[in-house]
Amino acid sequence: MAMRATAGGRLKQLEATLAALPGGVVVVDAEGRLSLANRAAERLLGCEIERFVESEPAIDTALRRRAPIDVERAVGHKASAPTSLALHIRPLSDEEGRFLGVVCALEEQDCEQRSAEKERVLESARVHLEMFESILRIAPVGIGILRGPDHVFELVNPALQAISPSVDALGKPFSEVEPDMPQLIPLFDKLLETGEPLVVLDAPLSVRRTPSGPSEPAYFSFCCVRASCPELPDGILGVVVDTTGEVRARQQLAQLAVLMERRAAEVQGILDNMVEGVVVCDADRRVTAMNDATRQIFEWRGLPEPERLTPAVLESLDLRGGDGRPIPVGELPIVRALRGETIARQTILLENLRPEGTCYLQTSAAPLRDAGGRIVGAVLVSTDVSALTELDRLKDQFIRVAAHELKTPVTVMKGYAQALLESAGELSPARRQVLQAINRGADRIDRIVRDLLDLSQVDLTALELRHEAIQLDALVREVVERVARAAIHNRVRLCAVEPAPVIGDRARLEQVLVNLLDNAIRYSPDGGDIEVSLTRSDDRALVRVRDYGVGIPPEAQGRIFERFYRAHTDTQYDYGGMGVGLYLSREIVTRLGGEMGFTSTRGVGSTFYFSLPCRR
Ligand code: ADP
Repeated sequence: MAMRATAGGRLKQLEATLAALPGGVVVVDAEGRLSLANRAAERLLGCEIERFVESEPAIDTALRRRAPIDVERAVGHKASAPTSLALHIRPLSDEEGRFLGVVCALEEQDCEQRSAEKERVLESARVHLEMFESILRIAPVGIGILRGPDHVFELVNPALQAISPSVDALGKPFSEVEPDMPQLIPLFDKLLETGEPLVVLDAPLSVRRTPSGPSEPAYFSFCCVRASCPELPDGILGVVVDTTGEVRARQQLAQLAVLMERRAAEVQGILDNMVEGVVVCDADRRVTAMNDATRQIFEWRGLPEPERLTPAVLESLDLRGGDGRPIPVGELPIVRALRGETIARQTILLENLRPEGTCYLQTSAAPLRDAGGRIVGAVLVSTDVSALTELDRLKDQFIRVAAHELKTPVTVMKGYAQALLESAGELSPARRQVLQAINRGADRIDRIVRDLLDLSQVDLTALELRHEAIQLDALVREVVERVARAAIHNRVRLCAVEPAPVIGDRARLEQVLVNLLDNAIRYSPDGGDIEVSLTRSDDRALVRVRDYGVGIPPEAQGRIFERFYRAHTDTQYDYGGMGVGLYLSREIVTRLGGEMGFTSTRGVGSTFYFSLPCRR
């Protein structure tokens, strides 16, 4: 609440207030005469207040300028510490603005405290300066100050100096330090004139990276502002970043993107013109590439081109195995490939796919891995083998029909030959030999015919096999004896026979044995021994047929069990045959749970063997 008082009362209050103030107050009128001083002023200035008013230049200046002034004055020494006076001089004017003089507030300063304060301020300034300098030193960007109309380098940090190491920039004009960048000078001039900041991104400029090196193209981004402090009225503060690396990387990336786009178009072009269907998906089954041949399958099924190979999408394709049964989604090649499996040539069947009927695909799939071996996707390649499958079917049909047609005449031929051999009348040795040759030939044709009939079955349906308990040792003995009797040039010997009860098809196993022995005899033209053995180890019976004949050339050994493959075609050891006996024999043994193999050395002989699990 404001206090109410008369003019005289107010003066009294003022005098009392002044007297009570701890600081000194001296009022000087406009003519420089002392008009008022309080007790504290007397204490601080002694009784020489008037002399102080006359002699203090700050009072004189304040009176002349009619402006506030703050100064500090030493006033001798006290016993404890030196003191000084802070003078705060303020102009005084009345309500109409007439200048009345000045009022000078005197504040006693403790010098020790003051210098400690000063020290603290200085210390803090030093710390800040050091910080500032180390920032300048380690900053990864160039920082500098240009001064004056010639743009002389006033401050250069190491990063800025490193841009052009050939000239020591400090104290030199910009034009001398960077003679290859004259285009910047007018920009600096304009900046000084207008004060508008200069911001340039990725400016193409030339620099000399080494003192004697050539000037080379580089890119810089920089920001320059006019220095705002009064000590540097014509200064420019600039921050520069060498962006050459980034710009080059960006340019390379852009080139790479163009290249990639072109490559992608090329790859798609190649894929779309391939007969094989190709589809690539990522680990989440998202389709990343698909060609026309694969698209066509979806089209034929009336399905849209899929974005992902979800179980529903795969299911709707109605994919079946070679036997016509649906393949569970988890067993489809692409799904297995995503689990890390590599699938080679699996037959997949699409029924009622198009007017021609069933489509047979031969599919191969493999996982795609990143550098760390992680599965990142899978690729599936499928070939439409419908035409080939149809051809195969026709071929098998032809073989079956031809074999059937041959069967009867061969049986008749064999029957007559045997009847004649057994007829009561005496036969001349020459006639007997001819009849025996006819009988052997008919036997061989009969075996070939049976092989052909089997062959046509193996591919189409499962070869019918009986699973009966048989004594393999008895069978081996029987077959060896029979073959040995018929062999003219070779001695067929049974070297070892161990009891071997097995489960199998007697007739088929006989077929296997006869085939191995027939081969051994045929490919031993010089009459070497044929050694047969049946041994047991663990729970397996092992039958070996060894010959000392022509052997099999190493390059042919890998294909010996292929259908219709013959290793000696068109050589001096081509003794006829169709190349199906071994294929069938292995098929039979494998289906009975056994294995078949061989070892052979050209010119030394061969050993064919098969094993079967023994009955307990
Ligand atoms: P083939 O009716 O032609 O004998 P196989 O399937 O029985 O048909 O044999 C395939 C090929 O393997 C033969 O053509 C022959 O080149 C080779 N072969 C089979 N057994 C022997 C063997 N014991 N010695 C040398 N070559 C053999």
